Amino acid sequence: MSQFITIAIDGPSASGKGTIARRLALQFHLSHMDTGALYRAVAKHILDQGRSPDDKQAAIAAATFVRDNLSWEMLEDEALRNDTVADATSRSSKFPEVRDVLLDIQHLYATRPPHKPHLRPWAGSILDGRDIGTIVCPTADVKFFVTASAEIRADRRTKELNARGIEADYATVLQEMKDRDARDSNRSAAPLKPADDAIILDTTEMDADQAFEKACQIVREKLV
Ligand code: C5P
Repeated sequence: MSQFITIAIDGPSASGKGTIARRLALQFHLSHMDTGALYRAVAKHILDQGRSPDDKQAAIAAATFVRDNLSWEMLEDEALRNDTVADATSRSSKFPEVRDVLLDIQHLYATRPPHKPHLRPWAGSILDGRDIGTIVCPTADVKFFVTASAEIRADRRTKELNARGIEADYATVLQEMKDRDARDSNRSAAPLKPADDAIILDTTEMDADQAFEKACQIVREKLV
């Protein structure tokens, strides 16, 4: 193995960052962590306990629970994917203590990802989230900040929910998305923002394949 590569992908909700991260991981045989799932697992645990996501002590206890009981099953739980959990997540993730508890897991994954046996001359990890390029992996080899207009993101999200058989109305989705983005961007701990050296990938005018191709091209240039 001659090269270890770390890719950081940040961006607001429904920007396409998760899809790009998953597809890049498959294409280049890299390990992928969706860090939003960690934060969602914390929020779900708080809600399951009947507590409020704005309750700092409950949030710290839930983050500690997630850290100490972490499993892939926990992160892949379909129940993390609803909008009630998403809304709660953007509240409980504002606490610096919660972020601190989850930081080691992300560092460990970035630097020592699960082994992927293959014949390529490189290995590495891709993490996607809100603060990967700024806080979790500030020395990542490639940093993307994937974004798109709020209207396009809300349209994609509404269609995605409808396709899953979940009733969703565009205006409500748009408003909830704006509220969540505002909470993520305006918090003092690890706010959503591009790292100074991030490549901005605006997918407003791109479909998923075009965005993926663009990201691929940039990663390929690094793997020489
Ligand atoms: O990416 P996803 O929509 O699953 O993220 C859910 C929420 O988790 C975000 O709105 C944000 O509040 C929080 N999050 C975070 N830092 C990360 C990833 C997600 O604060 N690295």
